Amino acid sequence: MRVGILGGGQLARMLALAAYPLGIRTLCIDPNPDACAQPVAPVITAEFSDEKALSRFLKEVDVVTYETENIPIDCARYVANSHHLAPSVETLRIAQDRWQEKTFFQSLQIPTPPFAAITREAELSKAAQDLGLPAVLKTTRMGYDGKGQMLVKNPIDLSQAWSRFKDFSLILEGFIPFEYEVSLISVRNPAGEIRFYPLVRNLHIEGILRSSEAPLIHPTLQEQAQTYARRILENLNYVGVLAIEFFYHQQQLIANEMAPRVHNSGHWTIEGAQTSQFENHLRAIFDLPLGSTAATGHAFMLNCIGSMPPIQSCLRIPGVHYHAYGKQPRPHRKLGHITLIESKPDNYLKNKQLIIDNSNSR
Ligand code: AMP
Repeated sequence: MRVGILGGGQLARMLALAAYPLGIRTLCIDPNPDACAQPVAPVITAEFSDEKALSRFLKEVDVVTYETENIPIDCARYVANSHHLAPSVETLRIAQDRWQEKTFFQSLQIPTPPFAAITREAELSKAAQDLGLPAVLKTTRMGYDGKGQMLVKNPIDLSQAWSRFKDFSLILEGFIPFEYEVSLISVRNPAGEIRFYPLVRNLHIEGILRSSEAPLIHPTLQEQAQTYARRILENLNYVGVLAIEFFYHQQQLIANEMAPRVHNSGHWTIEGAQTSQFENHLRAIFDLPLGSTAATGHAFMLNCIGSMPPIQSCLRIPGVHYHAYGKQPRPHRKLGHITLIESKPDNYLKNKQLIIDNSNSR
């Protein structure tokens, strides 16, 4: 069994690590010559539009998946002509455009923030009036980790927002003053078997995921999130892991976005669930039985952004697992993550605080 991954970043790296014990070989393709999957899997360095390189890549693999939704759709189509691409081209098409995605959610009666497509400055003022301020102006494509978006608080910010983003296709979203954010990671295989992980509570700072905690034990919310996820999975005849991010506001889940891939808010599953999201994604795309998604304890995952905390002091904390992606430090760059698994509530809170202090002490 050979998996091809479009993209060679940390998600590909963790997929390759999960593939190894299953006897699955991994090959990635990525334009970045420093792609961080390289130490654990071969990476062809080439643009996704390079058909020659893509053919070379496809000759070596049986099934293809992707680790980012920022893959040119023509590349996905090219791959799907000869190979099983999971999740599908149609899923990718929807997920890579915020307007398509929100319209899709609405078609399945999944609540979203109010939104409007913006193509002209006059439309922006009109949408701001209709939706009210504050609102968030986002590029419909290629946005991630808070990039390509701006909070608009006052009418006077509108012209600044317009001049910053006018060359892009845009969407204005009503600002949701949420109580907190959650995500649901689910997985479906071609036989239609579906598994859901427990809900994860997430903290974002400046649009970047900072930390996740799981399981969030809230049976009503879990049920609500699963109902929405099931609609998406079945409508798209989905194969693989799907992550959906929600705002929790006034006892309701409001869908922010979906990621048709393994997700940062699911990294805790490597040590914290019976089967990790990475293994379950591989099981799904190779049409294998899915593994249990049950949590094995309480998990706290902290992203290491811009720099890594010292490994010595981290590993002194009981229940801690250290993941360094081998990337060059750069401000705002995800360089690794740390996961704490602990069942006893007192120890959990104490050790979680130690991790936070440790990462702040640099
Ligand atoms: P996104 O790139 O859409 O996932 O946005 C990144 C983060 O920005 C989210 O996780 C939220 O913390 C915040 N955010 C995005 N859109 C909204 C919104 N409509 N209302 C409130 N906060 C938002």
